[in-house]
Amino acid sequence: MTTQTLQATTETTEPRARTYDAIGVGFGPSNLALAAALHERVPPSMDFSYRFLEKNPSFVWHGNMLLDNSRMQISFMKDLVTLRNPMSRYSFINYLKQKGRLQDFINLGTFYPSRHEFNDYLSWVAAHFNAYCDYGEEVVAIEPERSQGQVALLRVRSRSSDGRENDRLARNVVIGVGGTPNIPDAFRSCRGHPRVFHSSRYLQAMAPLGAPERVAIVGSGQSAAEIFLDLHDRQPAARIDLISRAPALKPADSSPFVNQIFNTDYTDYVYQRPACNRQHLQSQFRNTNYSVVDLELIETIFDVMYQQKVTATQRHSILFRSHVGHVDADDRHGIRLDVVCLDGGERTTRCYDAVVLATGYRRHHHKELLKPLRPYLIEDQVNRDYRVGTTPDCQPAIFLQGCCEATHGLSDTLLSVLPVRAQEIIDAMV
Ligand code: NAP
Repeated sequence: MTTQTLQATTETTEPRARTYDAIGVGFGPSNLALAAALHERVPPSMDFSYRFLEKNPSFVWHGNMLLDNSRMQISFMKDLVTLRNPMSRYSFINYLKQKGRLQDFINLGTFYPSRHEFNDYLSWVAAHFNAYCDYGEEVVAIEPERSQGQVALLRVRSRSSDGRENDRLARNVVIGVGGTPNIPDAFRSCRGHPRVFHSSRYLQAMAPLGAPERVAIVGSGQSAAEIFLDLHDRQPAARIDLISRAPALKPADSSPFVNQIFNTDYTDYVYQRPACNRQHLQSQFRNTNYSVVDLELIETIFDVMYQQKVTATQRHSILFRSHVGHVDADDRHGIRLDVVCLDGGERTTRCYDAVVLATGYRRHHHKELLKPLRPYLIEDQVNRDYRVGTTPDCQPAIFLQGCCEATHGLSDTLLSVLPVRAQEIIDAMV
């Protein structure tokens, strides 16, 4: 008997927990858009029960990257609801109206609010759903709940901040857990080091360090550029090295024809293409989103570097075509990086008081959560409606939000498609 059939014939003997029609894992923008859509689209007469579980103690959207001068890179009209229902009470425009800032926002003459304001908007929407979300609860596994030889339900196991373990059962699970920091191999031994941290921890990790003098930023995407300017503006004593594998800071392509790849109907186009064709599309349009920086920001950084030349004071350096080969951290020298030039191979050792890894994200955490269900999952199959392919003996449905870039296109990890995707998932669930 194979493991699969053995598991499939073993009945689950766990005590019964509360059963929901849907459990959302994570309560970031994706599942927040789902909550808004459920509230507006599913009539109370359907008695459809749902709950969201979020590991953070309260709602916050990339809290450690809410830098003073950072702005949204996407129009406020791509909020949680407008593309699905422009009359929704959860729109950014209604948020502005409720906060008494609608007219002044219009006077700003921009489509791109600050990230502070957009976080406040998302938090305002999230507050409407406090009764539907358990904060401070991290989902640790999603398991099969078997009955009569079938997987009848999904058991969602979570751990609350006080260490208590909780179980809930669900007919549908929607996973929207966002990205996990991508840590380059050379820095793996520094895990947990207070002076070596990923950009996703930037503000929190910098706070106890006071005013570090020598700072390295690894990477040359939007996060690296924003952190560079934040440190330059806020810490006049900081000398910053930006270490980039690329030969230049490259601008994000946000021109209008290219931007159409983020239109919601483009998802159909991408999904219908064969896998090799999708990969080609992704690499063709990679410069809309990855390893690229807003042109205005590039110009500001160039100006900072130019003014250094004018005053003949070299405070910062940008090390293009450079790679960190080896890392050593000790109390006397701080963090020593062995920096290798990718062109000539020369190596230099550089010492820092802090190193920020602005090295992007990976989107694989859902695979960890779904490990116990592996015998029932069809590898790499995600349907157009974001439902994970399962074997016929698995009745409940698992939906993925934000980790289907390979099948659904580059818009999948962004805010662009949230309202419509939420609608599509609800249509599949209800
Ligand atoms: P990213 O665009 O993925 O850039 C990651 C950078 O890290 C790249 O320069 C990459 O270099 C480098 N890198 C990756 N692995 C590396 C390794 N092993 N060794 C050395 N370098 C490595 O990440 P991000 O800048 O965090 O941006 C992620 C997303 O967040 C984007 O969509 C961005 O637009 C968004 N974002 C938005 C805002 C805003 O709205 N204001 C702010 C920040 C970020 P290679 O190119 O050589 O791979």
